Amino acid sequence: MATRFIFITGGVVSSLGKGLSAAALGALLQARGFKVRLRKFDPYLNVDPGTMSPTQHGEVFVTDDGAETDLDLGHYERYTGVAARRSDSVTTGKIYSTVIGRERRGEYLGATVQVIPHVTDTIKEFVQAGLDGDEDFVLCEIGGTVGDIESLPFLEAIRQLGNDLGRARTLFIHLTLVPWIPSAGELKTKPTQHSVKELLGLGIQPDILLCRCDRPIPESQRRKIALFCNIRESRVIQALDVDTIYAVPLAYHAEGYDREVCAYFGLETAEPDLSRWQEIVARVRQPEGEVSIAVVGKYTSLLDSYKSLAEALAHGGIANNVRVKLDWIDSEIFEKEDAVHHLEGVNGILVPGGFGERGAEGKIMAARFARERKVPYFGICFGMQMAVIEAARHLAGLPKAGSTEFGPCEDPVVGLMTEWMRGNTLEKREVGGDLGGTMRLGAYEAVLQPGSRVAAIYGSTRISERHRHRYEVNIGYKRRLEEHGLVFSGMSPDGVLPEIVEIPEHPWFIGVQFHPELKSKPFEPHPLFTSFIKAALDQSRLV
Ligand code: GLN
Repeated sequence: MATRFIFITGGVVSSLGKGLSAAALGALLQARGFKVRLRKFDPYLNVDPGTMSPTQHGEVFVTDDGAETDLDLGHYERYTGVAARRSDSVTTGKIYSTVIGRERRGEYLGATVQVIPHVTDTIKEFVQAGLDGDEDFVLCEIGGTVGDIESLPFLEAIRQLGNDLGRARTLFIHLTLVPWIPSAGELKTKPTQHSVKELLGLGIQPDILLCRCDRPIPESQRRKIALFCNIRESRVIQALDVDTIYAVPLAYHAEGYDREVCAYFGLETAEPDLSRWQEIVARVRQPEGEVSIAVVGKYTSLLDSYKSLAEALAHGGIANNVRVKLDWIDSEIFEKEDAVHHLEGVNGILVPGGFGERGAEGKIMAARFARERKVPYFGICFGMQMAVIEAARHLAGLPKAGSTEFGPCEDPVVGLMTEWMRGNTLEKREVGGDLGGTMRLGAYEAVLQPGSRVAAIYGSTRISERHRHRYEVNIGYKRRLEEHGLVFSGMSPDGVLPEIVEIPEHPWFIGVQFHPELKSKPFEPHPLFTSFIKAALDQSRLV
C-alpha cells in the first residue's frame, strides 16, 4: 500500500502534549498491524536543538545515527519502539541552511529564491526523504501552535502536499484545548472554533479534531464543535486527561480515534491488540511498593530536561512492580551547605548527564556519599565522570584529580579525546568546526568484561548504546583506579575508551559513559534501569 501521511498540528495553546499524542496514535496504528514512522518538524531557527539549553527546550534526544533532536522523538521511540533517525527531525534552521547552501552553489539557476516555492518545496522534500518505502503511515508532527509566524511555511507545505499526494493519502489532525471555565460551569468550544478558523484561513480543513479536556465533553458541545468546524461528529475525539501517560493509547482507542483514522483512509483491520498497554497501565496503577531515588543534577528547574531519564526510571519501576518516587536535587546545594541530609534515607542516587563546572563538586559529593554509605549509585555520562573523579581523589590517593572540562588540572582523569584516540576508535561523523556536532554522538559499541556485574545485567558482553559527550575517562588512570576497586568493566571495542566503571565491592555502583535512558521503553525497560531499581528495592528492605 502506498505510504499515507498524517499531519498533526496544534492549536489554542502549547503544551497540549502533541508529541505524546502523535506517539500514541503511532502505537495504535502499529497495533493494527501497520508499519509507522514518526517525524517532527520544528519551526525554530536552530539547525538542531543540540545547541539549546536543556532548561529552555528540554532534553536533547540523540538517535542511533548521531542526530541531536527534539525530545518528542523520545516519545515516538518509547511508544512504538521504532528507532528514530536523523531524517525524522527537521527544523526551520535545517530547511534554510539547505536552501541557502543550494543557492550558494548556484543550483537555483538564477531564480529569485523565495519562501514559496523554494522553502516549501524543501519542506515537502524532507517530509518524504529518508523513508524505507514500505511505511504504511508517516506521522508528521508540526511543532508550535497554529497562528505562529514561524509555522507558516510548514503549514503551507503540508497544505500543498494534501493536493500533491491527494486526500486519499493525506490526513490532517488538529489538537486543541476545550477548557473548563469555572465561573460559567462549562467547557468552552470557542477556542477550538477559532483555531480551526485560523487553519482554514491557511487552506487546511482538519479531518479529525483531538480535543484535550479535563472532563468529558457533553454530547451537545461535541455536536457544536462538529457543526462549527465542519467536521463529522464521530471525528471530534475527546482526549481526556489520564492518570498515567501510558494510558493514552488505551484512552484514545476507547474514543474511537484509531478507528476513525482507518475509516478515513478506507482501511479495515482487526481490532488492535493492546494487551501490552493494559499490562503496563495495570502495573503503574497498582505497584507493590515504592522506592525513592535522588536525582542529583543541575537542570532540575525544568523537568523536561530529564525526560527520557524520568521515563526510564519509571520503566525500571514497572519491571519491578514498584512506584519510583523521584527527588530532584540541585547539585549546587551540596556546595553551599552541609546538605548530605537530603540524601539520607533515599534508596538510590542517580547523577545524570550534564555540562560545565557549575554544580560538579556537588555531584562528586553525592557519588562519595553513595559509595561510602553503600547506597546504589547510577552515574550517567557526566555522572560517571564525576564518580571517577571521586574515586581518584578519595580511593586512589589523587586529591588533585579533575576533568579538563573545568580547566587544566594536575590529574586529568577525565579529558578530551586526543586525536589518535579519535582516529583509532571513531568513525568520522559530522565533526564540524562550529558548536554543533562536535561531540561523540550516536550509537557506539562496547565490550563488557566477562563476569562483571554489567555483563550479568545485559546478559551479553557486546552492547551498543547512544552517546553525547566531548570528554572521556582517561585510560591512563585505569590501572591505578582498578587497583583501588573501581573496575573498568566496559570498553570501546579497541580498548581505548572507557565505557563503564563499576565497584564490585559495592551493592550497586555503576557509571556509564553513554545514555541508556534513551533506549528504554515501557514494554522493554532498559536492563540497567531494571537492575538499578531492583538494587534500590533491596536497599529499601534493609532499612
Ligand atoms: N560534559 C561531559 C562531556 O562532554 C558529559 C556530557 C554528558 O553528560 N552528556 O563529556
